Amino acid sequence: IISVRNLEKKFGNHLVLKDISLDVTPGEVVTIIGSSGSGKSTLLRCLNLLEDPTNGEINFKGENILGNGFEITKYRSKVGMVFQSFNLFNNLDVLENCIVGQTTVLGRSRQEAEEMAMEQLKKVGMDPYIKAKPAQLSGGQKQRVAIARAVSMSPDVLLFDEPTSALDPEMVEDVLASMKALAHTGLTMILVTHEMAFARDVSDHVVFMDKGVVAEEGTPEKIFNNPKEARTKEFLKRYL
Ligand code: ATP
Ligand code: MG
Repeated sequence: IISVRNLEKKFGNHLVLKDISLDVTPGEVVTIIGSSGSGKSTLLRCLNLLEDPTNGEINFKGENILGNGFEITKYRSKVGMVFQSFNLFNNLDVLENCIVGQTTVLGRSRQEAEEMAMEQLKKVGMDPYIKAKPAQLSGGQKQRVAIARAVSMSPDVLLFDEPTSALDPEMVEDVLASMKALAHTGLTMILVTHEMAFARDVSDHVVFMDKGVVAEEGTPEKIFNNPKEARTKEFLKRYL
């Protein structure tokens, strides 16, 4: 569904992504792990066109998303993103947060959008809070609303950038449970996380990044139980 070829990203003279290639098939859960500064967020941001790649190709369902005339707004509704910092609309209540994108970007009717929002909020256990403003919620609750909002857009792919790393430990499990349930619906997911047990449990494919390159990739069994590269072993040691 997404295929990345020889992707390169520079900030000034700083080459942050070097020759990244990656294939994600429909329904797959791909986890990206790696040290701070290895380029994980930059890769996700390139996939969502929040950053402009310097070189290389990104294809979505066979179409080159970097081509001229490609409709970025429409693409962003198909490839959603959940951020570490939630990025909810603070002036809107929980339900409106989950409705506004559906009516403005997808052109759904108010009623249709509300039904979808309620369905997704129920799935993450946030339906009792529909009238709350984000400021009244805990971090874990906000993140579950952010997930419901992203899923309400009926994306083909959902990107997650460290969705639990800003949360207090006791909130992490609820968010991971919501993500795990989503993974089981067959949604294609690409996630950056430092939750290694979770990555091992839900991923179909694990990508280890180091200094802007894919240093090693494979099944969770291969990466976590039998890594080949010295730098993968070194990285994983810190999580054992
Ligand atoms: P972390 O685990 O800390 O989130 P990461 O793997 O997500 O790290 P990135 O945020 O992708 O790493 O950053 C990769 C490199 O790119 C870092 O050296 C960072 O300083 C640099 N970088 C990221 N965004 C920018 C930017 N907008 N301008 C300049 N440099 C940037
Ligand atoms: Mg990051």
